[in-house]
Amino acid sequence: MRQKIVAGNWKMNKTWEDAKILTAEVMGMVADEVKGNVKTILCVPFPYLGSLKNQLGSSTVKIGAQNCSEHDWGAYTGEVSALMLKSMEIPYVILGHSERRQYFGEDGKLLARKIDKTLAANLTPIFCCGEQLEIREAGTHEKLVKQQVEDALFHLSADALKKIVIAYEPVWAIGTGKTASAQQAQEMHAVIRKHLASKYGAPVANEISILYGGSVKADNAQELFSCPDVDGGLVGGASLKSREFVDIVKAMK
Ligand code: PEP
Repeated sequence: MRQKIVAGNWKMNKTWEDAKILTAEVMGMVADEVKGNVKTILCVPFPYLGSLKNQLGSSTVKIGAQNCSEHDWGAYTGEVSALMLKSMEIPYVILGHSERRQYFGEDGKLLARKIDKTLAANLTPIFCCGEQLEIREAGTHEKLVKQQVEDALFHLSADALKKIVIAYEPVWAIGTGKTASAQQAQEMHAVIRKHLASKYGAPVANEISILYGGSVKADNAQELFSCPDVDGGLVGGASLKSREFVDIVKAMK
């Protein structure tokens, strides 16, 4: 059975006061209302990680970061390393989000190094891939996404790969209100899983959780999550509202 996951990506949002309120609300609602074995993760801005982790305490809601450095320590002003996250017992980190690729020039080679750092630190990376609109329109989206997966992950052993969570996030659906249809999501998740199977074999590929991201909302989550290869969601905008986010978590049955 693959782990079902709904992760919120807060991006660069929320004051410290609002972050504490949102965390308390999500924690309370998840405790009262979420009964299945879906894992809920909040990926929050760096300065809030330690305190929100303490606030969550023994809650089933877990904490994650949104990025980390390819380096361990040293003169890299403004960076945060996987070893720092490990020392704070932060279990998850998003890597390769399309905003990091687009605005910070992150490419497959860099992401492969970051993946290695997170695995060496025993963190679980949530590795993002996905095509831009012009690639989708040109019909080369499968090729591109397979290449993204290959560039960042195919150097790993099967045992290492099993520690990765993948998020398929078509860039044209992120923050646009335009969701991929359930059929489009399923098609791409199956393409990714098949590509993993071509290198690692089906039993390994079948163990990897593949999340869908791109304008997931409470009213479309159930349809997306009912696809056989969709194991949950990576949620941006809708993770900033506790009621909406927890309703999405509840849609993952
Ligand atoms: C994201 O940033 O990972 C994301 C999917 O954003 P949104 O849900 O707002 O489209």
